[in-house]
Amino acid sequence: MARLLILGGTAEAAELAARLAGDERLETVTSLAGLTRMPTLTAGSMRRGGFGGPDGLAAFLTDGRYDALVDATHPFAAQIAAHAAEAAAKAGVARVKLVRPPFAREAADKFVPVADIEAAAAALPQGARVFLAAGRRELAPFAARNDLWCLIRMIEPPAGETLPAGKVILGRPPTDSAAEVALLRKHAIGWIVSKDSGGQAGAKIEAARLLGLPVVLIERPRPPDGPIVASVDDAEAWVKENMLKATGAGS
Ligand code: NAP
Repeated sequence: MARLLILGGTAEAAELAARLAGDERLETVTSLAGLTRMPTLTAGSMRRGGFGGPDGLAAFLTDGRYDALVDATHPFAAQIAAHAAEAAAKAGVARVKLVRPPFAREAADKFVPVADIEAAAAALPQGARVFLAAGRRELAPFAARNDLWCLIRMIEPPAGETLPAGKVILGRPPTDSAAEVALLRKHAIGWIVSKDSGGQAGAKIEAARLLGLPVVLIERPRPPDGPIVASVDDAEAWVKENMLKATGAGS
């Protein structure tokens, strides 16, 4: 059997694992960083936690006799993406990066593109009321601005970080833009800060369009050199082709 490691943490990773689960020629392990206490259930085997850098991941690939690696981590998870590229090269394992395309731009968008989270905080006008969907490690530049009021949506609760003035709500983003519009209106939000996570725009961006709100949009880091696929379909095709090459097991 061919062995595949999926670096997961995204909906695409879970979907790829689910699609490959029924294939008897392939043994799939999904790796999660282990940051989320209640991760989405994933088909196939799972492991959790860092590898200890690129050398640790290279050793993991070699010791586990993996034939291929799909890096399906989030477009903003730049460190693990770089480690995956370095480790796969070192271990001589075929690798592909699965990364969904950026948000499709629409005429109604008032996007203010910025390079990173620090630039996003700097781009907000004095006294802005801001909706911020961010990880707890990303709040410091906003907390450093004493003039902002931030509505912060987080999946995991804050763990002692200094928070910006405002309110924290816990939970995953809604699928319904009407609920998002109501939330933004209730808190008189004037600005949105979002990563260009890509794929379906999601309720937050839809709500910004409906309300005509500006969005400070954090552009994604450049992925490492090497093959990239933009959909689960293409990742599945890549796996089957590389499984075939690596093991001669057929597609
Ligand atoms: P990161 O900064 O690129 O990675 C930090 C470290 O976490 C890596 O060096 C690695 O540790 C470990 N790690 C990350 N993903 C891993 C995985 N799938 N399996 C095992 N170890 C992993 O990434 P991050 O921004 O902290 O994101 C961590 C995870 O959350 C990723 O899997 C990503 O897909 C997911 N995620 C991130 C975002 C985001 O906005 N950044 C959003 C949604 C989901 P070692 O060096 O010890 O191997």
